[in-house]
Amino acid sequence: MSAPILLVEDEPAIADTVVYALATDGFAPHWVASGEAALAAAAATPFALAIVDIGLPDINGLELFRRLHAEHPALPVIFLTARAGEIDRVVGLELGADDYVAKPFSPRELVARVRTVLRRAQRPPAGAAPAATAAAFAVDDERKQIRFHGTPLELSRIEYRLLKVLVERPGRVFSRDELMERAWDDPAASFDRTVDAHVKTLRAKLRAVVAGEDPIVTHRGMGYSLREER
Ligand code: CA
Repeated sequence: MSAPILLVEDEPAIADTVVYALATDGFAPHWVASGEAALAAAAATPFALAIVDIGLPDINGLELFRRLHAEHPALPVIFLTARAGEIDRVVGLELGADDYVAKPFSPRELVARVRTVLRRAQRPPAGAAPAATAAAFAVDDERKQIRFHGTPLELSRIEYRLLKVLVERPGRVFSRDELMERAWDDPAASFDRTVDAHVKTLRAKLRAVVAGEDPIVTHRGMGYSLREER
């Protein structure tokens, strides 16, 4: 899915080239020409990033940034300025903007900055805990093998498929029916409770690797999921 990018720019000629460059590069640009329109658009759509011209007809771009940031603190922002020195680069970045591009600029360079800022925004903050329990698992589809904390698990075919389904979607609750559909060759020939039996042996095998660890969560009456951790 292409990332939706909000472009706030009152000069149509500049907006056109930026919209074209973003769309060519696979983004989904949404252009507005004023600060008020930007606030309304940002309230309606969860944008991946905003590009904000400093010189806007209604609200100053810096003020717009403050208001956007108050409503959407995680939204990365790149400022556009009419000329170097319109604002001090340091001021823009101290406000919390993610980057700053002075006009005239090459649309390709701006798109490259967009990519860089998005990459940075998607990375978990330094020092954060491992993203999910899933990180403890390594699925080797070619060898039909799963490692848990580096240790290869001795799994039956059904256990392998069950665990793979759970590991690939941490947090997603799978019903017993869904798990059977994905892990059994002939679900119709089995009983519902065999899912429980396989999960039980799976849990024992995981505990044998790391005592006390139970990354599989039981949701009573609903099914199972892989524990999500941050
Ligand atoms: Ca302008």
